[in-house]
Amino acid sequence: MRVTLLGAGDTTGTPTVGCDCDTCEAARERGVERTRFSVHVENERVDESLLIDFSPDFRYQFLREDVPLPDAAVITHIHFDHLDGLGNVFRVFDSLSVYAADETDPQTGKSVAETVRDDYHYLDPLEVRPATPLETIHVCGFDVTLVPVEHPPLVCYGLAIEDPVTGSKLSVSGDTSYNVPEESREVLADPDLLLADAIVPANLCEYHPAGGRHETDDGVPRTFGTKHMTREGALDLAAELNAERTRLVHLAHYYPADEAFEEPLAVDGERYEL
Ligand SMILES: [Zn+2]
Ligand SMILES: [Zn+2]
Ligand SMILES: [Zn+2]
Repeated sequence: MRVTLLGAGDTTGTPTVGCDCDTCEAARERGVERTRFSVHVENERVDESLLIDFSPDFRYQFLREDVPLPDAAVITHIHFDHLDGLGNVFRVFDSLSVYAADETDPQTGKSVAETVRDDYHYLDPLEVRPATPLETIHVCGFDVTLVPVEHPPLVCYGLAIEDPVTGSKLSVSGDTSYNVPEESREVLADPDLLLADAIVPANLCEYHPAGGRHETDDGVPRTFGTKHMTREGALDLAAELNAERTRLVHLAHYYPADEAFEEPLAVDGERYEL
């Protein structure tokens, strides 16, 4: 399993358009970036690739990384930064299977799969394939399982991707608070690589209108507001999942410049062989 981090940023990315903060300036100076979230997972055994989320930066990411176009894709949730690159399939793909959860979201009255189908009904190459969370499906030679996470007010899913032949395993937290349900944790546990949402360091919770929550015994918030994990929360989740290796993703430019490029914070273009 070859994993390429196409986009390790949050919804504005780093550098952020029009921003001259120290972190965005440092990114420009170093020639590194964090575009909107997407992960490319190649199965060399069957010569197929699975894409996790359709970043609005899809075209640029594929040109930059020169990875094969995907044979299938999974959408974790319907936020702009994870879905709205899907229009790029037009005149690039003859057909593409896109997997998404089949549970109805009380907020929208539709499942992620139904929203994808409705929003992109005009895209002929698209074949939306509803998948039931916590039930394993077989895609690109992998066993893939969507797991519910907490990203209010929308439903959102993390996922585990395992190669049943080699035993290698990638887990992705999805956009989530630290409050990942126990049955989801069981599916995500013991990965060779965990990609965990860590939008900001915990000390920035004081700037969020909702503050932080899910504090450690020392009072460190593991959730930023209600929707995302802090760096500290993501690292605690990684320890609890017994991850062999962890990269923090979905990172905002609010990390101070002297912390923003420290381990284990990911930048675009990282590749891992599992
Ligand atoms: Zn900035
Ligand atoms: Zn989101
Ligand atoms: Zn996001």
